[in-house]
Amino acid sequence: MDDWKTATKLVHAGTRRSQYGEMSEAIFLTQGFVYDSAEQAEARFIEAGPDEFIYARYGNPTVRMFEDRMAAIEGTEDAFATASGMAAVNGALTSLVKAGDHVVASRALFGSCLYVLDLLARFGVEVSFVDGTDLDQWRAAVREGTKAVFLEAVSNPTLEVIDLAAVAEIAHARGATVIVDNVFVTPTFSRAVALGADVVVYSATKHIDGSGRCLGGVVCGTRAYVRKVLEPYLKHTGGALSPFNAWVMLKGMETMDLRVRQQAATAQALAETLAGHPKLARVIYPGLRDHAQHDLAMRQMGAGGTVLALDLAGGQEAAFRFLNALEIVSISNNLGDAKSIITHPATTTHQRLSAEQKAALGITPGLVRLSLGIEDGADLVADVTRALDAA
Ligand SMILES: *Cc1c(COP(=O)(O)O)cnc(C)c1O
Repeated sequence: MDDWKTATKLVHAGTRRSQYGEMSEAIFLTQGFVYDSAEQAEARFIEAGPDEFIYARYGNPTVRMFEDRMAAIEGTEDAFATASGMAAVNGALTSLVKAGDHVVASRALFGSCLYVLDLLARFGVEVSFVDGTDLDQWRAAVREGTKAVFLEAVSNPTLEVIDLAAVAEIAHARGATVIVDNVFVTPTFSRAVALGADVVVYSATKHIDGSGRCLGGVVCGTRAYVRKVLEPYLKHTGGALSPFNAWVMLKGMETMDLRVRQQAATAQALAETLAGHPKLARVIYPGLRDHAQHDLAMRQMGAGGTVLALDLAGGQEAAFRFLNALEIVSISNNLGDAKSIITHPATTTHQRLSAEQKAALGITPGLVRLSLGIEDGADLVADVTRALDAA
């Protein structure tokens, strides 16, 4: 199995069959497991073997299939699935640190990730924020004894690309664990482990489900980290993924490679079509040559990703007119869905930030985030360009 390419692993890795030899993965919708004897129960609580389960908050066969498939494609020894992407981010960070520890994070983060870092600070963890694209700031902030660095390899919503290999080198020189929220990169384009990430976190709600059905998350890392650091925290604090949702994620993974490559191809075509459009102050897409980290994006991902950001010259009013004129693209706030979705971050996902914080992050009144779906690419280009004319 180790020799299989990603597309093969996405369909087959981690599969566990019951005595019935079912073709499609079974949903083990059970929270508990029966022991043959009291002695067996005792032995399992001392150490559960790979096919032995105790309680679904600790693990479940359907959830384990999803974890094993994710670890196989991400290239980590192990993985632990969670109820949502935020349970994964919270688990990855909180399980590792204690009061007095130091964490360095990039500033351009998903709002809920910022909340988790504020929470750590409340419990006595020192958190330093840096401009993730400025390696000098990382060098200055990471010090001897820094426990972890946390970053989104491609930031939301302004699509800044962070040089993961360089940050990992800085962090590792000081013994810090590198935790990467890799949602915008997607597992398909991820090379995070090869570039030096120790822990890779995904919201499975996004491209992994890919059809906007279920919440889920996953933390990928070494066996020692996943089983000795992360699992005790997650299994006792209750962020377990439902077996049904794990099954949805397994099914989503079967088509993820096809979807994500198609979505990225459409995003690239749309970005190229829109570049220089008179209604747009900026087209932000890592796949465009004028993106500040274009070469880095190509090295790290080999593609521009499935999301692009547009900054309407006419500000919020023009952005709202544009959103309201779209027919195929839905106004919502998920991303990575089979359906194209557009978001106005300043008034929704990033509403909570002050005007200064928004300005510092480049979240202007005219900025919209567009997540491309798998609809026909030409239909999407036509919908977007027609709505821009109407804006
Ligand atoms: C969506 C998202 C999350 C949170 O995931 P949920 O499944 O909604 O909890 C975390 N990080 C990033 C970058 C995201 O886009």
